[in-house]
Amino acid sequence: MVGSGPPQDALASAIPKRSFDVIVVGSGPSGSVAALLLARSGLEVALIDKARFPRDKACGDVIGPRALRALERLKITTPSGEPVASMQLSFPNATVVELPSGTGLEFDGVGRSIPRRIFDHHLHEQALATGAFEITARVSSVVAQSDGSFVVEAEGGPTSPPGSSSIHLHCRYIIGADGANSKVASDLVLTSPSEALWGFAVRRYIPATVGLPLISLLDGADLVNAGDPKRIFPGYGWAFPSPGGMVNVGVGVGVGGGRKGSSLATNSLTGYIDKLCHEGNLGPVDGEHASSSKQLGGWLKMGMAGTTGGRGGALLVGDAAGLVNPLQGEGIAQAIESASAAAEAILHARSDPSVRYRDYLLQRHAPYQHGSAFLHRYALTHERRALIILGVLSGLPFQHAIAQAWGLYWNDLSDAAGPIPGALLARAMGRSIGLLHSISSSYSRARSPLTFPTSHPPRNHRKE
Ligand SMILES: Cc1cc2nc3c(=O)[nH]c(=O)nc-3n(C[C@H](O)[C@H](O)[C@H](O)COP(=O)(O)OP(=O)(O)OC[C@H]3O[C@@H](n4cnc5c(N)ncnc54)[C@H](O)[C@@H]3O)c2cc1C
Repeated sequence: MVGSGPPQDALASAIPKRSFDVIVVGSGPSGSVAALLLARSGLEVALIDKARFPRDKACGDVIGPRALRALERLKITTPSGEPVASMQLSFPNATVVELPSGTGLEFDGVGRSIPRRIFDHHLHEQALATGAFEITARVSSVVAQSDGSFVVEAEGGPTSPPGSSSIHLHCRYIIGADGANSKVASDLVLTSPSEALWGFAVRRYIPATVGLPLISLLDGADLVNAGDPKRIFPGYGWAFPSPGGMVNVGVGVGVGGGRKGSSLATNSLTGYIDKLCHEGNLGPVDGEHASSSKQLGGWLKMGMAGTTGGRGGALLVGDAAGLVNPLQGEGIAQAIESASAAAEAILHARSDPSVRYRDYLLQRHAPYQHGSAFLHRYALTHERRALIILGVLSGLPFQHAIAQAWGLYWNDLSDAAGPIPGALLARAMGRSIGLLHSISSSYSRARSPLTFPTSHPPRNHRKE
C-alpha cells in the first residue's frame, strides 16, 4: 500500500507493478465504487488519489435514498449516520414548506447524513480490501496511445512539491473519477470547461441543533455579508443535522460557464448562519466554535453540460462527468450509479466500453440532467425570472401533493417513485420541462449550430 508506506520521493520504487487492466483516478465515492466492482470481478486495478485517506471533502454530507439503495444493491456497506427524510424548504419571504419524503419503488424515503471524511474513507477501504492497489499520488498527465491504451503520469503525493518524483503507469482502461476539475477529462479532451454549467458551494460544521433538515432559497437581501444584496441568485443554503451534535451549514451558488462569482458563496455563509439563528432555525449555537470552525468549498459541475462521458477505453464518472443535479447540488447517488455502469461497461463491452456507457448516460441521466440544467439556466440565473417564480411558488396554497411533487422532481426521484402521492405530478413536471428544453434547444441549434459537446472530439495522441 503506497499511501501509508514509504516516503513519497520513493514513489517509483514503492510500486511493484507498472501496468494495470484499469487505472481509476480519484477515490471519492465514484472512484472507490468503480475500483471495488472491477477488482471484485478479478481485474487488476490501480486506485490513485492525490489525498491520503481519511480526507475531508466539502459537502452537505447527505447520502440520498437513491445512493443508499445503489450501495445496498452492490453489496457495499455504508457507515451509520443521522437519518434525513422529510425536509423544510424556506423561501426568501420566510414562507416555509415541508417537502415530505416517501418510500418509492426503488428507494426508501430516508437518506443519511454521514460526514464525507467517514463515508469516503469507508468506501476507499472496501475498495482496497477487495483488491484494488492504492497509489497516493497526483495524476499530472494522461495520454491516449495509438493502440487504445493509456499512459498515466503520477507524481509526488499529498505533501510533496509538484515534480518531486514521478512514475509512468500503463493501462488498457482508464476511469476519470477525479471530480469536477478532472485531469483525465481535460487531458483526453472529454470536456470543454467553458461550456459546462458550474456551481460553487461552501460548508462549515457548527455545534448546534436543527429541526427538520432545512434548505433555504436565498435572494441575498438579508445576508449580512453577501455584498450586493440582490446577487445571491441562483443560490441556496442548507442546514443538515450531522452526527455528534453538529449541524452542517452551507451555501451554494450557480455561476454558469464563466466560473465567476464563487466568492459570493464564500462571503455569504456567515450571514446565512446569522439569518438561521435570527429566524430560530438553529438551536443554541456555540458562537465561539461556530466562528472558528473551518470553512471548506468546492466546485459543482452540473447538468452533463460541456462533457462527453467517454471515448474508447476512457470513461468519466461522477462529478468528472458533470452529473451533479443542477437544482439542488446532489451528486453522490449519480457518482455511485455511474461508477457501477462504467464498471459494467468495461466488463461486458471490452472492445469499446464507451459506447455502452454513453448509452447508459443518455438513457438514465440525460433527460433529467438536461431538463433541470435548462431550468437552472433559464429561470435561476436571471434574477427577475427567479424572483417571479419564487413569488408564485411561495404564494401558492402549497398542498401536500404539490410539495411532494416538487420534492420528488428536484431530487430526481420521480421515475423511481411509483405510487407515492405527487409522483404523477412530478413526472408531468419533468416531461413539461423536458419538452420546453427540446423546443428551446432546437431553436438555438437553428440559430447557432453547436460546437460542443460531440461524442467524438479529436483524440489526444501520444506526446513524443
Ligand atoms: C459544498 C458541497 C456540498 C455538497 N453536498 C452534497 C450532498 O449533501 N449530497 C450529495 O449527494 N452531493 C453533494 N455534493 C456533491 C458531491 O460532493 C459530489 O457529487 C461527489 O463528491 C462526487 O463524487 P466523485 O467521486 O465523483 O468526486 P469527488 O468526491 O470530488 O472525488 C474526487 C477525488 O479525486 C481526487 N483527485 C482529483 N484530482 C486528482 C488528480 N489529478 N490525481 C489524483 N487524484 C485526484 C480528489 O482528491 C478526490 O478524492 C456537494 C458538493 C459540494 C461542493
